[in-house]
Amino acid sequence: SNKIKLGVVGYGNLGQGAVKAIKATDDLELVAVFTRRDPETLGIDEPGVQAVHIDEASDYQKAIDVMLLCGGSATDLPEQTPHFASMFNTVDSYDTHAKIPEFYQSVNEVAANHHTTAIISVGWDPGLFSINRVMADAILSNGENYSFWGKGLSQGHSDAVRRVNGVKNGVQYTIPSEEAIEQVRSGVNPELSTSEKHRRVCYIVPQEDADKSAIEHEIKTMPNYFADYDTEVNFISEEELERDHAKAPHGGFVIRSGKTGKDNNQLYEFSLTLDSNPEFTSSVLVAYARAAHRMSQEKQFGAKTVYDVAPGYISPRSAEELRKDYL
Ligand code: NDP
Repeated sequence: SNKIKLGVVGYGNLGQGAVKAIKATDDLELVAVFTRRDPETLGIDEPGVQAVHIDEASDYQKAIDVMLLCGGSATDLPEQTPHFASMFNTVDSYDTHAKIPEFYQSVNEVAANHHTTAIISVGWDPGLFSINRVMADAILSNGENYSFWGKGLSQGHSDAVRRVNGVKNGVQYTIPSEEAIEQVRSGVNPELSTSEKHRRVCYIVPQEDADKSAIEHEIKTMPNYFADYDTEVNFISEEELERDHAKAPHGGFVIRSGKTGKDNNQLYEFSLTLDSNPEFTSSVLVAYARAAHRMSQEKQFGAKTVYDVAPGYISPRSAEELRKDYL
């Protein structure tokens, strides 16, 4: 078929969402899911989906146009993206904002050398929020950007707390301050520190005999993720976690308030309200797979971010159709 052929690397929340999102399209086809675990044990409940051990991925270079990298940002993607970008066009959701410049460097070197297209840090933030920050900033030069997240369960931060020593399981909610949002919408352009805009609340299931105060300290002092925030750590049982924290809602706002002319207030606002953060994020990855494929065909090699990808490249529709129906 002339469908774009995709592989999925890593079968966590995003990997599972990616499989569903690919099935919902007419122009994309899933070749296989690759995992570090025993492929037999993945228990993929989608008919006809093949699971393969990650070490065999190199055999699929001819069969797959784009690999969707669905590993975690904390430790998986810094290794997996450069590794896979040496063999495949890739799309990943790397979301450790402070380290994106060095991540870009390491991926770009490999992708440029191996003539692949690697679109990094795709999703909603980084991703769609990033695009809106840049648009608003370029248009309203006299103004201020604000990003708010939540209330929601953050995959990146939950991933990070689950990797802390002594943690059996856990989730993290980001909670925006209503007061801060209203202040921003009023156009006064307040100066707000990160901790004035949000709090972080963790629900942790400790391992048996774990040192709870050590867990709490390690979380609260974790650079990039928690150190700069007002962070609350609660310890709960596995049963409570299952009962009260099983869904993965998220969302947020990008707001720029600016002035034009003498004294005209202009408010630019983009928001998302998501029932399932991973299913939405993986839907973004799947759409950007079209761009990775098309850009590699045009020999636009190297690491790319959402800023480098024209919107038409992610659409299943032709440029002509887009001009006619969507402009
Ligand atoms: P998960 O923790 O669910 O999965 C990460 C990896 O862990 C998988 O690829 C999988 O690899 C392994 N894994 C998953 N489940 C199990 C299990 N039961 N046992 C053993 N290993 C397992 O992470 P998510 O899919 O929720 O998120 C991935 C990353 O996406 C996050 O770290 C975050 O940084 C990023 N993200 C970005 C967003 C954005 O807007 N840019 C939004 C949301 C998330 P394997 O199959 O090889 O074992």
